[in-house]
Amino acid sequence: MNNIFVQIEVFGNTITICAMVQIISGSEIAADLLEKELVPRVESLKTKGIIPKLVVVLVGEHPASASYVKQKEKFSERAGIDSEIWRYPDTTSEAEILAEIEKINNDPTIHGVIVQLPLPDHVSVNKVLRAIYPSKDVDGFTPENIGKLFLGEKCLECCTPKGIIRMLEAAGEDLSGKNVCVIGRSNIVGKPVAALALNKSATVKVCHSRTKDLNKAIADAEILIVAVGRPEFLHGDQIPAGCTVIDVGIHRKEGGGLCGDVHFESAEKVAGKISPVPGGVGPMTVFSLIENTIQAAEDCNE
Ligand code: NAP
Repeated sequence: MNNIFVQIEVFGNTITICAMVQIISGSEIAADLLEKELVPRVESLKTKGIIPKLVVVLVGEHPASASYVKQKEKFSERAGIDSEIWRYPDTTSEAEILAEIEKINNDPTIHGVIVQLPLPDHVSVNKVLRAIYPSKDVDGFTPENIGKLFLGEKCLECCTPKGIIRMLEAAGEDLSGKNVCVIGRSNIVGKPVAALALNKSATVKVCHSRTKDLNKAIADAEILIVAVGRPEFLHGDQIPAGCTVIDVGIHRKEGGGLCGDVHFESAEKVAGKISPVPGGVGPMTVFSLIENTIQAAEDCNE
């Protein structure tokens, strides 16, 4: 779809209005890439007798985790890879979880493992995540993978940032030379997505809670990646006309349904392209996880 921008004169000032916004459907892009790219890679591995296998470690019961896990199972099935959920009660000790990670590390039939967060309070997230072999760390959270990502070296890239970049490219964005503004500097989204955009030769600005004037900081953005963790935080009147907006946030609304970190109704009136919630970054994150598992299986059989 082509974007249509209309320029109007108001009291001597030229104002640009985006008349048609392109919705970037992560669900459609993920389904398309899965069919075109992942299924053939899995078939090729199967001809060598290798079936990529993902293990999801789930400790305790969390309704949100259960729904993410279901999505991962669905995508795994569609790609043709094996996936298993290893469930443990929330009374499981840290030592027992570390022993299970060790077992997974040493099992050559398992190519990737993720530990579903949150973990119970008595378990150190850092200790558990760092116990995973980097070659099986398909969430891309170990210091080795994060370090390589920043160096621009081949690695298992963390899933949400990787999914965002793939989604932007699939939506026709060439990041080279573009002004990219990331709102949020978390280790799992903001920082790594900024690094990936920089590796694609974008000019990157990262904003956070100490940014003095957010509206001024984002005024020249051509691509805005919003990962603030606050429901409907960013409104249309803050977004530069024609900007591409990627909404990373996901929140349950009080009255039911989901929303993102962007106030979609006002934002879609000014954005050139925008990703919705649900159906935006979420499916691209799961796509990246499955792709990382396939990459891990390919790498260990090179
Ligand atoms: P996080 O760790 O809470 O980080 C939020 C970031 O936003 C922080 O860097 C914080 O700045 C910044 N921030 C907070 N208030 C701000 C303000 N008023 N102005 C500017 N910056 C502000 O969150 P996260 O883990 O990155 O996740 C962000 C959102 O994405 C959440 O809604 C999460 O659920 C969602 N998410 C979705 C997926 C997916 O697959 N769809 C995956 C991961 C996360 P400081 O650092 O200064 O505190």
